[in-house]
Amino acid sequence: MQASARQNRCDVIVIGAGHAGCEAARACARMGLKAAMVTMNLDLIAQMSCNPAIGGIAKGHLVREIDALGGVMGEVTDSVGIQFRLLNTSRGPAVWSPRAQCDKKMYRVRMREVLEREPNLRIVQAEVAEILFSEGRRVRGVRLRDGRELACGAVIVTTGTFLNGVAHVGESQYMCGRSGEAPSNLLAEQLRNLDLRWKRLKTGTPPRLDGRTIDWSRFERQSGDAEPTPFSFLTDKIDRPQIDCHIAYTTDETKRVLVEALHRSPLYSGQIEGIGPRYCPSIEDKMVKFPDKPRHQIFLEPEGLDTYEVYVNGMSTSMPVDVQEAMITSVPGLEAAEMLRPGYAIEYDAVDARELRHTLEVKSMPGLYLAGQINGTSGYEEAGCQGLLAGINAALALGGSEPLVLARDQAYAGILVDDLITKGADEPYRMFTSRAEFRLNLRIDNADERLTPFGRRVGLVSDDRWERFQRKSAHKAALSAAAVCTRLDVYPQVNSSEHPTVAEWLRRPESRIAMLDGWARTVLSEEPALGVLTTLETEIKYAGYIAQQDRQVERLSNAEARRIPPGFRFGDIPGVSREIREKLDRVRPQTLGQASRIPGVTPAAIAVLDVYMSLPGARMPD
Ligand code: FAD
Repeated sequence: MQASARQNRCDVIVIGAGHAGCEAARACARMGLKAAMVTMNLDLIAQMSCNPAIGGIAKGHLVREIDALGGVMGEVTDSVGIQFRLLNTSRGPAVWSPRAQCDKKMYRVRMREVLEREPNLRIVQAEVAEILFSEGRRVRGVRLRDGRELACGAVIVTTGTFLNGVAHVGESQYMCGRSGEAPSNLLAEQLRNLDLRWKRLKTGTPPRLDGRTIDWSRFERQSGDAEPTPFSFLTDKIDRPQIDCHIAYTTDETKRVLVEALHRSPLYSGQIEGIGPRYCPSIEDKMVKFPDKPRHQIFLEPEGLDTYEVYVNGMSTSMPVDVQEAMITSVPGLEAAEMLRPGYAIEYDAVDARELRHTLEVKSMPGLYLAGQINGTSGYEEAGCQGLLAGINAALALGGSEPLVLARDQAYAGILVDDLITKGADEPYRMFTSRAEFRLNLRIDNADERLTPFGRRVGLVSDDRWERFQRKSAHKAALSAAAVCTRLDVYPQVNSSEHPTVAEWLRRPESRIAMLDGWARTVLSEEPALGVLTTLETEIKYAGYIAQQDRQVERLSNAEARRIPPGFRFGDIPGVSREIREKLDRVRPQTLGQASRIPGVTPAAIAVLDVYMSLPGARMPD
């Protein structure tokens, strides 16, 4: 009797073992709390519901930040990645972002291993039917569908697309959490009655193909990087051999098939009411929205090393199965391809995240935290990041400590939370680099400098990570000091009669620190710490811009009350999307502060507006 009472009591209960749930549960356990993670299916911990890839533009930044704080997504990705690519390298280092194609099954297995190693974490397969509250709407536990009750001090809900989930494939629709899994209707019903604002959102996934039925010789090959960039600051090197992905294109026939069947699409027939992500349209949507585009690119991405299942990136759809088959076979090289699973769209309940504090705790219900897709986001990385922050903050609150709230100029994670809780999300929210007004400071190479001290303070950063971080910081300080006083005369590859210092020379666009073979090793008398040379080079090369950005941070903090002249022509602002210009024109805000609170108006657009308002001619009345 006593044993069972002990088992049924813990500090924190995490509902869900998706990408948010795993980070939340592990963070709480690592921070010394007794944590329980309840999931509907133990075999699907950290399931990748959509594409088997982590990272990508801006999402890669989020994973580096999760890692720098002491989270696990980066390490797990490094250990199961099968193709790594650093994206955006033709642009500046602020927007370089890593992406890795993963072995989907290994990702689940590896994440489960990592979680099972945590002595403070109990993993339970069950459905949570109800969250229990005491007086003052303070969380006190959960009730499982089988009738058991678990008591706790805080609950973190990370239920993804499972709340009132409805899948659509053509004319057919059925309730599910995601394909093949039951929805979470009991909990959904309770949450819907809890006096919070809710909305219906929608996302979709493409069909999966049998790789043995694909004519691979017909496609352009896309290889990984020769030198893979790891996600984790703890990974020295990626040793696993890399696989190739392949690039294909839709044809006129693909377009004909889809356009002729549009009346059968649940998106166009009115069957789907939830709002989907505009930035990630389904293939039928692309045909309608870009009628003049002759073809659309698709990527054929293996789902793992020991399976022939192939993910068709770029062909997300909710068309009927027969239309999906015709669409697939219209692509040269896929004439004989067999579909293993059809694509589908899913509609689900998401909360209006303006109901939350910066800690992701529900304002009106102490001890209840929400993280991941339930808050209106889309993506594993966005979910992981929120899970980690919700876990950290639940643990800090239970310990009576100050919360961890990251500012917009400190982390993409800070931008994510700030955007969600101040503006909500009127469509599934994903991270973009354009959401950051201070991009130059928020790079992948310096995520540790920005965040590891916070992770250490809250108790998530291991001694090994902390020692590595301190060594890198010491190396950076020594090299920065040496760079301004070492003249480069001894390097024959530096062809200059002006005898520049290392710092002066590095500021030239064509200079690369790698050309100074051995300089850093000589200064340090040992191998430079992993990543320090990239950070040093970037900070020296872009010192002027970084200083300018620092001044901008200060200026913007004073901009809240800045008045926008009457008659200001919002339609003329350069470098801002038409959608944002139209929103501004419709609302016609009177101050920059007001403009910044219009849903969908990014802080980066506000920064441009701020500068543009000062230009002569921009104030001309309409
Ligand atoms: P999930 O990973 O969904 O995890 C939810 C967890 O909650 C599961 O473990 C489940 O068992 C558990 N759970 C739910 N209810 C209960 C309960 N009552 N009791 C116990 N456990 C419960 N993202 C993109 O970035 N791009 C895309 O194109 C994309 N397409 C998608 C297409 C589909 C069809 C789906 C389903 C998702 C798609 N996503 C996409 C989203 C991505 O999968 C999610 O954003 C991400 O997985 C969300 O993570 P999460 O932790 O919030 O929830």
